[in-house]
Amino acid sequence: MTTTEPFPTDWQRALCVVAHPDDLEYGTAAAVAGWTAAGKEVTYLLVTRGEAGIDTMHPREAAAVREQEERDGAREVGVEQVDFLEGYRDGVLENGLGLRRDLAREIRRRRPEVVITQTFGERFANGMLNQADHRVVGREVLDAVAAAGNRWIFPELVEEGHEPWGGVRHLGWVGGEVTHTVDVTEHFEAAVRSLEAHREYNSALPDDFPQPRELLTFILGDPQSAGEHGRPTRYLWGVDLFTYGMNA
Ligand SMILES: [Zn+2]
Repeated sequence: MTTTEPFPTDWQRALCVVAHPDDLEYGTAAAVAGWTAAGKEVTYLLVTRGEAGIDTMHPREAAAVREQEERDGAREVGVEQVDFLEGYRDGVLENGLGLRRDLAREIRRRRPEVVITQTFGERFANGMLNQADHRVVGREVLDAVAAAGNRWIFPELVEEGHEPWGGVRHLGWVGGEVTHTVDVTEHFEAAVRSLEAHREYNSALPDDFPQPRELLTFILGDPQSAGEHGRPTRYLWGVDLFTYGMNA
């Protein structure tokens, strides 16, 4: 797709679902900052605590560190509610009905109109390889949104008191094709702070790994806006967005 459309604004509540702490901070947090600044409610749901992500730190310790870093990063972009599913281990997520039910439960609980998750393609749009946990979550969210709206899929959720929620109108995947964009120029600094909040994680990365500002400039910078010294003057967050009822 060569032209993109502006991301819709006709909604109030968004839920962002990803596999690991920091997945949202590689760009999506910039859009989130804009949404919360505009008075929208955004909550985060993490499937794991990313506890296998720091080679030099035991997963028990890393789980607590990375959970806190995610909360700190979320706060930088106006998000207070950050929840973590229990029972899922970093690096070994599998597609399945258990995860789908847990995601459907959270969607019913929060009743979002917008759900944002991560691409389940084998590659990101930039050609880099995607990883298993991201692919699992991106695909299960797709089906969990449908299950959230159907009383007869996972009837045990109704017995728990979670009535169906069929109000998701927009479902987006980040990292692959881009159909819709948000101009996040004004929120670029907040996005940098949200990624910098992952201090322990970032400090354990190889020395030649780009710093948060550099990385987010690469991810969000609009190359067509390059000003003096080649730095972008405009930043865009992009997503592959499906709007229910429109594309059928
Ligand atoms: Zn990840």
